[in-house]
Amino acid sequence: MPKKSATKKEPAVSSKKAPPQIAPPRGMRDILPAEQGFWDIARKACISIASTYGFERIDTPIVEETALFVRGVGKQTDIVEKEIYSFETAGNEKLSLRPECTASIVRAYISNGMLNQPQPVKLWYMGPMFRHDRPQRGRYRQFFQFGCELLGEMDAVCDAQLVIISYLILKELGIDAVVRINSIGTPESRVNYKNALSSYFRSKRARLSEEDRKRLTKNPLRLLDSKDPAVIEMKAEAPQIVDWLDEDSKAHFMRVLEYLDEINVPYQLDPYLVRGLDYYTKTVFELFTASEEDEATQSALGGGGRYDGLAEILGGRPTPAAGFALGLDRVVSKLKELNPQIEPNKVEVFVAQLGEQGRKKALMVFEELREAGVKTGEAFSKDAIKAQMEIANRRGAAWAVIIGQKEVLDGTAIIRDMDSGTQEIVDARKIVQEIKKKLGHG
Ligand code: AMP
Repeated sequence: MPKKSATKKEPAVSSKKAPPQIAPPRGMRDILPAEQGFWDIARKACISIASTYGFERIDTPIVEETALFVRGVGKQTDIVEKEIYSFETAGNEKLSLRPECTASIVRAYISNGMLNQPQPVKLWYMGPMFRHDRPQRGRYRQFFQFGCELLGEMDAVCDAQLVIISYLILKELGIDAVVRINSIGTPESRVNYKNALSSYFRSKRARLSEEDRKRLTKNPLRLLDSKDPAVIEMKAEAPQIVDWLDEDSKAHFMRVLEYLDEINVPYQLDPYLVRGLDYYTKTVFELFTASEEDEATQSALGGGGRYDGLAEILGGRPTPAAGFALGLDRVVSKLKELNPQIEPNKVEVFVAQLGEQGRKKALMVFEELREAGVKTGEAFSKDAIKAQMEIANRRGAAWAVIIGQKEVLDGTAIIRDMDSGTQEIVDARKIVQEIKKKLGHG
């Protein structure tokens, strides 16, 4: 027991300075219970469609060696140059929070010898990614992605299937998406295009910002991602990569589009879509809603493409592969916009109690109902029946089981129809049976 001085007057608590409150890190947030129902729906749609197409779950570490992302995503990408969360551990390991998952999956494919399994290897993942980006609407520093990766197969039908899966997930959620698609060919065919693009923008160098001038020297393709309105305007006249594609990439792209036509996935050809990561080859695509606002803010719901060179960059054998990632934060926000009425966590029956004896009996009844597979609610810390009935209504219970002092003594319980308010008394030993009958459970 702490000693208390009887003579000295204790200072009033309010005169103590309260310690400062701690907020979540900038650009990160709590996903509260009221939102979880939407997340569940989004995750379910992703998993169900990916599984139907034969994809299996993989979990990789949230931190990886920094070198994985420097090599895999690319040293000169915004992600690695500006946005990566890197740190050195006490054991001098240079690690980073993953900014995306494709490099990790290819690393896992190599580390686990998946090359020796029947190909293609089809994997899906879901989890948080981290980018130290400027936070704004739909852009967080910790955000969630669901993604599919298909490794060990180069056929164009795989690219098309990945576009179809990502489109279908959104469709399943009631989100009308449009696919923007392009081919960026092979690294070899890109060299000539880069030169053409470079000389086009060099002729307009005076109008470029400091940052875009850097992009011009380091990687002119990045200019096509620039958000600067002047560059967007210049882009309209810029050379287009389709004119520089090698024959194989061209034929591959045509086949992808034919498959999409076949299954009526709406797409728009976007000759300037290059995506911000170094590893892409041939097909690249992004998914947008048809809303003008989303188009204006360039906030894609997801994106992906083929990355035939990545496994080799990461020290593996040459492995053709393709994949996509959906941004779940944005998908959930769209889902909420479309279905504000979703009510998560409903119960079928609510167990209410009155008095200490009633509460004790109710604990057991709750357990029996739960074991019988009935979705049951309670508010055991509340005493007043009125407060308990309010909670029962809020949680959508059709029935309430009410147990008070009298019922305990009589060995009975009251079953209340929450809609009509009518009540009946039942034998306490038959509560589960009665409730199951009323709910139509077998
Ligand atoms: P990316 O591979 O960068 O195109 O990312 C794929 C998808 O993840 C994007 O289309 C977005 O929906 C989502 N995404 C990427 N970065 C963020 C972020 N900072 N905040 C929220 N969602 C993001």
